[in-house]
Amino acid sequence: MARLIFLGPPGAGKGTQAQILAGLLQVPHISTGDLLRVAVSQETVLGMKAQSYMDQGELVPDLLIIEMIRERLLQSDANNGWILDGFPRNVSQAVFLDKLLKEIDQTYDSAINLEVPNEILIVRLLARGRKDDNEEVIRRRLEIYRGHTEPLIDFYRDRQQLISVDGNRPMDEVTDELKQLTQF
Ligand code: AMP
Repeated sequence: MARLIFLGPPGAGKGTQAQILAGLLQVPHISTGDLLRVAVSQETVLGMKAQSYMDQGELVPDLLIIEMIRERLLQSDANNGWILDGFPRNVSQAVFLDKLLKEIDQTYDSAINLEVPNEILIVRLLARGRKDDNEEVIRRRLEIYRGHTEPLIDFYRDRQQLISVDGNRPMDEVTDELKQLTQF
């Protein structure tokens, strides 16, 4: 059973790798960005509250995210493992996750950090062409990453649960290393 947290800046290939690995390990790939995009497209209350933050590259408020992830992790398919992608995004979300997992008698195996240099990220994100992938929003997302999400690297390193992987390589090579690390 695998329970993994995927860290790394926007454009590092987190989503792609998390999805491939989740398929191999047969656990759900839980991406808060994907869940939010579905909520926006379905015009749910959550989606309507989240949209402007997403469009500007800001973080959606913790309370909304925490409720969403609690609900998702309590679904039965998440009983036997998961890969979290895009959550936690700041230290208070990470503290919440620890609390929630304790409550439901779960732990995680490790946090995997995909490392990619800034200039490569911008090129990759511009090529991706998602709605929130224009240059100004990309810069804002990277700033938010450095200010709020990057501190999680130390958070998990201090707990000796951090695994860093060079994400600036061909996709297959990164996947192979991840497979080895997670002993698939
Ligand atoms: P992503 O697909 O992970 O790049 O997320 C897209 C956008 O969704 C982000 O720029 C944020 O606005 C929002 N988002 C996704 N996950 C979170 C999170 N854990 N906390 C706050 N906002 C989030």
